[in-house]
Amino acid sequence: MTSTASSNDSTTATMSKSLYIDGVWTAPVHPRTVPVVNPAMGKSIGHIAVGASDDVERAVRAARAAFSSWSVTPVAARVAMLDKIYHLILERKELLAQAIMTEMGAAISFARASQVPLAAEHIRVARDLASSYPFLKIEGHTAIAREPIGVCALITPWNWPLYQITAKVGPALGAGCTVILKPSELSPLSAELFAQIVHDAGVPAGVFNLIQGSGPEVGEALATHDDIDMISITGSNRAGALVAQAAAVSVKRVTQELGGKSPNVLLPDADFARVVPLGVMSAFRNVGQSCSAPTRMIIPRHRLAEVESLVAATVNVMVVGDPRSEETVLGPIANEAQFLRVQALIEAGIAGGARLVCGGPGRVEDLTEGYFVRPTVFSDVTTDMRIAQEEIFGPVLSLMPYDTVDDAINIANDTKYGLGAHVQSEDLDSARAVASRIRSGQVHINHPAWDPHAPFGGYKRSGNGREYGIYGFEEYLETKAILGYA
Ligand code: NAD
Repeated sequence: MTSTASSNDSTTATMSKSLYIDGVWTAPVHPRTVPVVNPAMGKSIGHIAVGASDDVERAVRAARAAFSSWSVTPVAARVAMLDKIYHLILERKELLAQAIMTEMGAAISFARASQVPLAAEHIRVARDLASSYPFLKIEGHTAIAREPIGVCALITPWNWPLYQITAKVGPALGAGCTVILKPSELSPLSAELFAQIVHDAGVPAGVFNLIQGSGPEVGEALATHDDIDMISITGSNRAGALVAQAAAVSVKRVTQELGGKSPNVLLPDADFARVVPLGVMSAFRNVGQSCSAPTRMIIPRHRLAEVESLVAATVNVMVVGDPRSEETVLGPIANEAQFLRVQALIEAGIAGGARLVCGGPGRVEDLTEGYFVRPTVFSDVTTDMRIAQEEIFGPVLSLMPYDTVDDAINIANDTKYGLGAHVQSEDLDSARAVASRIRSGQVHINHPAWDPHAPFGGYKRSGNGREYGIYGFEEYLETKAILGYA
């Protein structure tokens, strides 16, 4: 496919042959391409140029040079840039939704209603925080200055491709940092459109740089680079640990947003008719490819049969199919490797003794092309099973019965992860008491609305650091104490 993402032609979704470094689209030092696969077809639809360590060198030089001016640019000017980026995302929302649908299979209605608008929210929140943030506070005779940490490398995954990018780029730019973004090589299209938006917003050269490419090449070159001050990665535990190891020698700040296996505890007094369908929809949102998807529904044993039938009724009407159709709820799994992993874990569920309530291995009937999996629910799942411990990242839900509330909490906490959690109860005090005993970075009570200010991140193996809102913003700041200031 030909390159079209020039500054004169900013609204096309075709694939560029370029990287965006120092304010211009440019070819890699050693040009190489990788295929981009549309998961609904299971076929390559073109190629994207990818960079390597030489391109990282160029981008780091540009970001370092730009840091000296961007870090002292008046906050109002940074806020104005974020405002332009926010409005350009809204203006180009349909193009972005189409790109996300094409690159990772999101159903178009979901891409339009969630993937793009929630991504825009991160920029809006960063804009608002930057405009009111106290970058200097006086405490006694000491001033506490919060200053941008420096040049930041931002590594993002494919599952919420634009949303993960804006959750990092927004606060980084608002704080006064310069960035090098490496999106997932499996979802390059929305990243390219986003880079064009940053360009068209007038962000100065070198402040934002994009290098498409693989984790082991571009990602590792960023993690090991001596002149990068911070690296933020969202991805698998494996990649997060490799980045931390590689970054250790240069003593960078490392933030990691990693995997999850989130519980959804239904207390006996919950409104089952409401919360069970909502629990299924939360677990299967984005085809289950969300790190905080509540994929373990923890249920009073004596209500198990009732929950199974409510769950089956919800799943059986979910439309699986062509993501271009407005009716589709579940598109394909985003890529072949993930499709095979989901299939293997459904098989592991059966082999491990869990009981199928609906779905199962194999392809969806009549969908012979693409990576479509059957929405699958297992019951009688116990904590020793692989499907109760491993992140599946597909539309697979485990129903886990409990006898007492203490049991429910033990089951909820019995994984290496601690990212998201849900509690359902008609009695807020009971729900709060359980929420306080769950070891995870977020707990949702009775399916509340999304809150872009609520900090997001992991306990245990789910990561280090927080994103979103003020907690995410402050990750990009250093703290300087100036004694004798006042
Ligand atoms: P992944 O780990 O394969 O890739 C994530 C990113 O890391 C990609 O850009 C990839 O190229 C890069 N990468 C891979 N190996 C690397 C290395 N050695 N050095 C540097 N970079 C490397 O993950 P994925 O398959 O893209 O995404 C799915 C995973 O992401 C799941 O485990 C999911 O839970 C997690 N995730 C977490 C959050 C969160 O906020 N906690 C959000 C979304 C996804």
